[in-house]
Amino acid sequence: MISENVKNILSELSTGNPYGEKVTLVAATKTRTPEEINEAISAGVTDIGENRVQEFTEKYDLVHGAARHFIGHLQTNKVKYLIGKTDLIHSLDRFELADELQKRSEKAGWTANCLLEINLGNELSKSGFSIDSAKEAYERAIKYPNLRICGFMAMLPISEDEKYLRSLCLCMREIYDTIKARDENVRVLSMGMSGDYRLCVECGSNMVRLGTHIFGPRAYNLK
Ligand SMILES: *Cc1c(COP(=O)(O)O)cnc(C)c1O
Repeated sequence: MISENVKNILSELSTGNPYGEKVTLVAATKTRTPEEINEAISAGVTDIGENRVQEFTEKYDLVHGAARHFIGHLQTNKVKYLIGKTDLIHSLDRFELADELQKRSEKAGWTANCLLEINLGNELSKSGFSIDSAKEAYERAIKYPNLRICGFMAMLPISEDEKYLRSLCLCMREIYDTIKARDENVRVLSMGMSGDYRLCVECGSNMVRLGTHIFGPRAYNLK
């Protein structure tokens, strides 16, 4: 079932987005076993993303052949476990975290690839910068010598109003385009989960994070 799901999704995404870009599939692997994750990789998944540092660490050596993303809320006291081990951190959502990432990365002689997390609906339950402060956050974040800002990770609000969601995504894409035009490190717009990825890709996402759509419903609910 996992293999079939992966093949279907990869085939669907293979046409890219309307902006002529390839769309990367990141398998969101929280609560999934290493066996399930390896099955997804065998079926063609090239990138996987964990939400919690403990799960990231526990599964690290048991999963093979994929780029490692970190997509969940990151506590500053857990940053040290990701240094040198992750290809892209999607959840840079505050400068306290940037400070800690800088400190640890510099010590290790490493550069942390990061996306600035944007809370598109300004929901209190979600972290991240507001869309209005995205450019300002970017300007400040690029000053950290050991962080490489590769783009944005946008979280959509929960809403049935497709027109509203579309307008938020397009607004995010516009900001992404403006910054991308002058910074060659900026090449990722991570936007879209199982419930909304089609809309997100239509509006210019070039990276989607899918859990349920690949692996089925989660047995228990984790953020
Ligand atoms: C769990 C999670 C996903 C995937 O969610 P699904 O609805 O299962 O596709 C994507 N992004 C983040 C940050 C997540 O925590």
